[in-house]
Amino acid sequence: MSHLRTAGAFRKSTLRRANEKLVLNSIRQHPSLSRADLVRLTGLSPSSVTFIINRLLRERMVEELDQGETSKAQVGRQPTPLRLRSSARLVVAVEIGRIHSRVVLANWCGEIIQTRNVPWNASPTVYLQRMRSTIQSLINGHDLQTIIGIGLAVGGTIHRRTGRVIAAENLGWFGIDVLGILKQDLPIPFHWDNEARLCALAEVWFGDPEQKRLHNFVFLTAPEGVGTGVLADGRFLRGAAGAGGEFGHIMLDPNGPPCVCGNRGCWEQYVSPRALERRYAALSNAASKETTTADRIVDLARSGDPAARQALVETAKYVGLGLVNLIVALNPESIVFGDYLARAWDLIEETIWREVRQRTPPYCLSQLMMRPSRHGDDAAVKGAIALVLSDYFSRIHDTPSVEAEHASAAV
Ligand SMILES: [Zn+2]
Repeated sequence: MSHLRTAGAFRKSTLRRANEKLVLNSIRQHPSLSRADLVRLTGLSPSSVTFIINRLLRERMVEELDQGETSKAQVGRQPTPLRLRSSARLVVAVEIGRIHSRVVLANWCGEIIQTRNVPWNASPTVYLQRMRSTIQSLINGHDLQTIIGIGLAVGGTIHRRTGRVIAAENLGWFGIDVLGILKQDLPIPFHWDNEARLCALAEVWFGDPEQKRLHNFVFLTAPEGVGTGVLADGRFLRGAAGAGGEFGHIMLDPNGPPCVCGNRGCWEQYVSPRALERRYAALSNAASKETTTADRIVDLARSGDPAARQALVETAKYVGLGLVNLIVALNPESIVFGDYLARAWDLIEETIWREVRQRTPPYCLSQLMMRPSRHGDDAAVKGAIALVLSDYFSRIHDTPSVEAEHASAAV
C-alpha cells in the first residue's frame, strides 16, 4: 500500500506544480489578469486559483498591481490585476562573437539589467574562460535558486548534445568544446543555439500577437558573416547535422570570391558587413588603410556620402538576389532584418523589394512582409534569454509550438 500512497503523493505534487506553472504562464502571457480571469483561462477551480495565487504572492513570484495603476478613475471593488514580480527570477544570456561579445543579466520579463562586454581572444580556451568568469562575476551575490538558466548564442553550427561547436567559420572555431569549458563549476542549466535562430526566436517570444502567430518566417543577421534563422511550417529548420537553414552559404556564383566555408560565391561574400566595407573602400578610393565599418558607412550614407549610398544600394541588390532563392524555397510570410541591414533599412528597402519583385512569382509574395528587427543589437541576447524562458515556461503546459519546440535545446 505504501508504494501506492507514494505514487499518489508524487502525482499530487506533480499536478500541484503543473497547475502552479500553468497559472504563472498565464500571468506571463496576459499581464494584469485577475483571479476571475485566471479561472476562466486555466479551467482551474476558483479555490485552486486562490490557493496558488496566495502561495505565489507569499513566495514573491507574482505581485498585485496597484489599482491606481490600472484605473484611477474607477472606485469600488475592482478585480485585482496580477503580474510577474520582475526580479523574482533571473536569466543569464551570453553572446559569442568577435564584435558582439558579452554577458547580460536579465529578469524573467526579458528586461536586461546588467551588461558586461568580454574582449575577444584568438584562443578559444582563453576566451571561453574569460566568458565563464564574467558569468560568475555577474551572478555573484544572487541566490542561485533565482537564476533560471544560462542561454548562449553562437554564430555557427553546434552539436547540441555534446556541447561542441561543429563549425563557426567566422570565429575560426571547429570542434571546440564550448559548453565543456563554460559549464565548469556553474550549477545552472545551460541552453544554446545558433545565433540567427535565436534572433528569430526573440521576434516570436517578445513579439506582438501577430508575430507570435507566424509559422513561416526568416531572420537575416549580418553580425560578421550572414546567418539565417528559419521558421518553416511552425518549426525551426535544423537539418540532419544542425546546419539546416544556413542560407548565408547558398551560392550566387560558382566563380565568385572564396568563402570561409570552402566554397566560392556564397551569398555571404556579397552581403556581409565585410562585403559592404570592401565595396565602399573601392568606390570611395579611400587612401586610409583603416576599414570604414558597416555601421559607419550607414551613417555616412545618411549624411549624403555618395560612395556610401552607392555601396549600400549595390549591397541591397545582392541582398535581394539571395532573398529570391530563399523566398522561392520557403515562401515566408515575413523576413526580419538585423544588424547593419536593420540600421540601413530605409536606405535599402526599395532596392531589395525591386529585386525581389522582378524575380519572384507574385504568388510567393502575396503575404510577404519585410521589416527591420525591433531588438537592434540586442537581438541575439534577447533570443538567448527567450531560449531559457521558453524552456522554463514550456515545461509547464501547452505553450505555442515554437516555444515548446525550442525547449528541447536545453542541455
Ligand atoms: Zn560559404
